Amino acid sequence: MDNKVFDVIVIGSGLGGIRCTQELLKDNLSVCMVTSKEFCSGASFYPGTWGLGMIGPKDDEDKNDLLENINRVGCNLSNPQLSSILVDNVNNEINFLLEQDIKLKESVDKDGVVPCFDSNKRRWFGFDFKSAKEVFSKILDNENITLMSSTKVIDICNEGNGSKGVLVENKDKSIDLIKAKSIVIASGGYTSLFKHNFSLELDSPIVQYLAYKVGCELINLEFVQFIPAYIKPMYKTIFNERVFKYITLRDKNKSNILGKIEDIDNIMDERSTYGPFTTRLKSSLVDKVLFQYYQLDKNSAYFEYPKDIESIDDTLIYNYFKWLNKFKKDTSNKIHIAPFAHACNGGLKIDKKACTTVDGIFACGEVTGGVHGADRIGGLSTCNALVFGAIAGRSASEYCKLNDFKDFNIKDNHSSESNHRVIGNSDDLNKFKKAILEIREVLYTEASILRSEKSINRAKDKMYKLKEDTSNINILYSNKSILDSYLNFSLIFLDAMLNQDKSIGCHCRTDC
Ligand SMILES: Cc1cc2nc3c(=O)[nH]c(=O)nc-3n(C[C@H](O)[C@H](O)[C@H](O)COP(=O)(O)OP(=O)(O)OC[C@H]3O[C@@H](n4cnc5c(N)ncnc54)[C@H](O)[C@@H]3O)c2cc1C
Repeated sequence: MDNKVFDVIVIGSGLGGIRCTQELLKDNLSVCMVTSKEFCSGASFYPGTWGLGMIGPKDDEDKNDLLENINRVGCNLSNPQLSSILVDNVNNEINFLLEQDIKLKESVDKDGVVPCFDSNKRRWFGFDFKSAKEVFSKILDNENITLMSSTKVIDICNEGNGSKGVLVENKDKSIDLIKAKSIVIASGGYTSLFKHNFSLELDSPIVQYLAYKVGCELINLEFVQFIPAYIKPMYKTIFNERVFKYITLRDKNKSNILGKIEDIDNIMDERSTYGPFTTRLKSSLVDKVLFQYYQLDKNSAYFEYPKDIESIDDTLIYNYFKWLNKFKKDTSNKIHIAPFAHACNGGLKIDKKACTTVDGIFACGEVTGGVHGADRIGGLSTCNALVFGAIAGRSASEYCKLNDFKDFNIKDNHSSESNHRVIGNSDDLNKFKKAILEIREVLYTEASILRSEKSINRAKDKMYKLKEDTSNINILYSNKSILDSYLNFSLIFLDAMLNQDKSIGCHCRTDC
């Protein structure tokens, strides 16, 4: 790639990155979109689900009620200004998808759907990947966009106003520095830090940490949502919570692991109404016992679907089995499940204009924190990416009009040559790979859905030990960046869990 300079570098091509780029192109700005995968990727286009829900207020009168519910569910830890911008703008964003001829699924009930954790029906749509990809791909015809796919951001530079850059590792492992006046970060969450997760970003640095290093503040990191999914067979297949009330979770001796819990039928009924683990409800006991059993037996607890499950009159169960059958997923045997890291409510701190705490660096979507609080109403994460994607695009555009590009240089200790020179050292490469797996194992075991001061501190000690053990390893610069971000971000993340010394939303402290 030649040393072209852009107005804006957009990191990520999920809903946040794409929505932001649409706004930038409207203003004729030159955009370099860098994405570790292909165009239209990330959780926004997650291949292993039957569709992503999006919700909005039913009408203007419903806005206040939705906002109150966001605050209630978020345990008042969302930024009210950001949540109200979300509520005010979400319907326009959904309408804009429809205007572009993206085919959204509609709710069967004309009055809408009660989203997960919400208390009233809302406007609901299901995001359709196929038509969205077709429509969004049209932006690639614009001569002002340069798409760098299969390209990983491995560092971020901030040299002042109008002087930003990202260091990228290309598919062939060569390294480039891309320069621009400003950056929009839309790189999604950090669920890849946990052993069991749905992240598609398993070998990239934690971009939140790269941004933190140049001065961006972080917020609400402790709030990561976990949902149950299959351990085996069909690892990572999402479980549909609706079936909780029809199944029994058993240990290896076939005993009901929840057998000792009083009022279990009502608890399972409640657990059937929502996806992610939350401490706000009594039925959190189900996930806690499930996780505790996993700690004893890594095969995890299992259940068997009742024979007539597919004929139960429930749209969500019907759609779930339709999807499982389409992908020929065999559910006739024992299914083992455990909690999987699903989505992050915390991340880079932004203001109402999607500006991070560093001038000229903007962020949107799941990479940010504060739009949702300790828990999130279902269907608002995709909407967050759209609403704040558009805002980030407009803000970056405004910034570019006010700031000229100022050239800069960085120390050349990560050139393509140095990246290649160390490829042969397989012992160190193995050490690196083992360290990443260990970080995920430690965070899952000590600090996923059950956290205590002791377990968090044990996790911190292990991170320090890993830092020491890997301090001298000779690996690619890009792998160094991954390891450095995993270890240092984990320590910040663990401190956030330690500082939140009570159970709140999806953050469960067993010792307070
Ligand atoms: C299984 C599943 C089901 C979900 N269901 C729902 C739902 O029903 N409703 C809802 O509202 N939300 C749901 N979510 C959450 C929602 O999908 C995401 O929060 C949202 O789509 C995030 O959009 P985004 O644009 O911020 O990030 P993403 O869509 O995750 O995009 C991130 C982009 O950044 C790129 N990237 C990351 N790191 C780098 C790097 N270092 N260098 C270059 N590129 C990088 C990725 O390749 C990708 O293109 C679900 C998530 C999952 C995993």
